[in-house]
Amino acid sequence: MESLLPKTYEEIPGCLRQMTEKSRFIGGGTDLIIKMRMGLAAPDAICYLGYVRELKEIRREEEWLSIGSCATMTEIEQDPEVREHYPALMDAAADVGSLQIRNNGTIGGNIGNASPAGDLLPVLYLYDAVLEIMGPDGVRRAGIDEILAGPGRLNLACNEAILRILLPPSTGYTSFVKLGSRKKVTISRIGVALRIEMDGDYVKEMKMMVGAIGIKPVRLEKAEEFIKGRTLNEQNILDIAAILSDYIREHVAKEFDRDYKVFASRGVVMDAFHRLRRD
Ligand SMILES: Cc1cc2nc3c(=O)[nH]c(=O)nc-3n(C[C@H](O)[C@H](O)[C@H](O)COP(=O)(O)OP(=O)(O)OC[C@H]3O[C@@H](n4cnc5c(N)ncnc54)[C@H](O)[C@@H]3O)c2cc1C
Repeated sequence: MESLLPKTYEEIPGCLRQMTEKSRFIGGGTDLIIKMRMGLAAPDAICYLGYVRELKEIRREEEWLSIGSCATMTEIEQDPEVREHYPALMDAAADVGSLQIRNNGTIGGNIGNASPAGDLLPVLYLYDAVLEIMGPDGVRRAGIDEILAGPGRLNLACNEAILRILLPPSTGYTSFVKLGSRKKVTISRIGVALRIEMDGDYVKEMKMMVGAIGIKPVRLEKAEEFIKGRTLNEQNILDIAAILSDYIREHVAKEFDRDYKVFASRGVVMDAFHRLRRD
């Protein structure tokens, strides 16, 4: 197996040209190494981008917050810009796995994994994230939904790498709450990401993304419509929880913990509203 290790941004295209359908990128390896050990992946080459300084950085760039795809969960959680302006992303990064997983697992790998239970995914949808992608012949940008194809699948060629995740400015209040199993290290069973803009006591706009109830994060438009122009009182929040329960009952198959999710969604929604913080 060949190792492709670009040290600078300029060296990346040369490495991409050597990649085949069997080659893989690697970030922290928390997912890929397990697959390789289980015999589920046998790459002919592995490309590690983490030596390229720009791909580790989190920095403000004109209107965007630019997050290098090799930034780890710990780096994201601790970044002052993320903490101040994207609290839902901070919460999602802080909730991933254990400390060891957060110290190694990257945002690029979380997207690359494309797991329906990936914690960062509903939040990246919430903030309308744009991905910067490099192929052998150049760089392009695409929205997160264009790239995420389904469980374990991305709309990327085998030699296209996610370089950076770009977040536009966020206004209003946001939060992310995940409910997992009772094991210490949990894989998300439901993750609710909320963004709300208020007009005095009334909700002007809400965006609600729910992870781990579909093959991709689900936007709960019915709840968004319901709350527009209303106050955030307890009854309205309970009504939103009921909308989510109904959605799960209709769309989630029984073998994917449907009954547990219907029951648990109420608490997750209540928590998500109580944890809203200004961006
Ligand atoms: C015990 C345990 C607990 C976990 N808990 C959680 C959890 O709570 N929440 C959660 O969301 N996940 C969890 N995970 C899954 C995983 O750790 C995360 O998804 C992590 O973010 C993966 O990042 P990585 O850098 O380690 O990915 P890697 O294993 O390095 O890569 C994962 C995939 O992404 C691709 N990839 C990596 N970088 C790029 C790139 N720049 N461009 C294109 N493709 C790329 C790789 O080719 C590979 O297919 C857990 C895993 C373990 C083992």
